Amino acid sequence: MANRLSFPDAALPASTEEIRTRVRAFLEAELANGSFTPRADTWLSGHDPTFSKKLGAEGFLGLTYPKQYGGQERSALDRFVVVEELLAYGAPIAAHWIAERQSGPAIIKHGNDALREELVPGIVRGEIYFSIGMSEPDSGSDLASIRSSAKKVDGGWTINGTKVWTSQAHNNQYFIVLVRTTPQAEANGKHNGMSQFVLDLRSPGVQIRPIRLLSGHHHFNEVVMTDVFVPDHMMLGVEGNGWAQVIGELAYERSGPERILSTYPLLAALVDAVGPNPSAEAAAEIATLVGRMTALRRLCISVAMSLDAGRSPVTEAALVKDLGTQLEGEIPEVARRLVPPGVNERFDQLLADSILSAPGFTLRGGTNEILRGIVARELGVR
Ligand SMILES: Cc1cc2nc3c(=O)[nH]c(=O)nc-3n(C[C@H](O)[C@H](O)[C@H](O)COP(=O)(O)OP(=O)(O)OC[C@H]3O[C@@H](n4cnc5c(N)ncnc54)[C@H](O)[C@@H]3O)c2cc1C
Repeated sequence: MANRLSFPDAALPASTEEIRTRVRAFLEAELANGSFTPRADTWLSGHDPTFSKKLGAEGFLGLTYPKQYGGQERSALDRFVVVEELLAYGAPIAAHWIAERQSGPAIIKHGNDALREELVPGIVRGEIYFSIGMSEPDSGSDLASIRSSAKKVDGGWTINGTKVWTSQAHNNQYFIVLVRTTPQAEANGKHNGMSQFVLDLRSPGVQIRPIRLLSGHHHFNEVVMTDVFVPDHMMLGVEGNGWAQVIGELAYERSGPERILSTYPLLAALVDAVGPNPSAEAAAEIATLVGRMTALRRLCISVAMSLDAGRSPVTEAALVKDLGTQLEGEIPEVARRLVPPGVNERFDQLLADSILSAPGFTLRGGTNEILRGIVARELGVR
């Protein structure tokens, strides 16, 4: 059986401790001055531009980006450490999250100079925010079946179509939108003929409609684009190369510590709630969760190391996301069983957040069934 999965031995170098100490001190000070209350799943729902700008000012964003655009050219492992601390503290990081994690790197890699200079420094300062414009009403897992399209016009392109489940589009300034620039029937294969554009969500012809969550919160949206003009320089990368570019983004999107730590603040609160002398059942259940999290963390670090080495660990990232999001969803289940409601207000809040967010964990960024298909294909069993 072929086995091309590769998880290089993973350990964080001692040099990452300096930035961990710094980000922890920052977070402790922010907690002490009441600037945030720890919540679960804050990387998608905790949209707080003031907090993102503070992170930018402290030099915690765009760590890996080129210095030319405001970055620090540090390793992906330094970024990993900053991100895992932000997640573990349950800090409100959704405003800059997508921009800093994947839009910035995509623009640095595929964008022209004008686009990089216009957008990347603002991402590093925590001032420019992006959403993801991939899914459509009839195209989620089968992303190549998208119907949104761009037509060439003088000086740019005109975009028509509808995107859906667009997280935070009502709060962010831009999204990177995947559209057809050649109709599927004329493209040589389903994955050809797609292109990406950076689209200003405030452009004429863009309508953003809320899709409310079970909890009543407005988190994601339907984005309708009617004859939206996008100037030429906002095309990202090469016309027709959209599919390959999207696949490259997925290694960033699927492998990070946010795929194991969305409910970590609840796990920490659970340990506090059961106290220093838990029952044997509680101790065993919590130890199992912590053991799994520890193993997954090593895999995440390994993927970060591969990214640092310039590889594109798409399959490894798919495996980590599948296992990690299962764990994230099991934490509230265990917490609910072990601690009755009404004992601890902070625990109750984190549990409620986690239960309401959990259905999305295994869907967003690609469903677990699809991820398992990717892994199976790489292992040669499909
Ligand atoms: C909280 C949240 C935030 C999101 N934010 C964004 C965003 O910002 N931008 C964006 O573009 N999208 C976003 N999404 C959309 C997300 O990427 C899609 O929901 C996901 O790709 C699945 O697509 P779908 O919802 O159309 O489900 P479908 O593709 O219709 O799948 C439905 C079910 O069928 C299964 N299935 C489908 N095809 C296969 C197959 N070939 N083999 C086996 N099983 C299959 C799936 O696993 C799933 O269980 C978000 C989703 C969530 C839940």
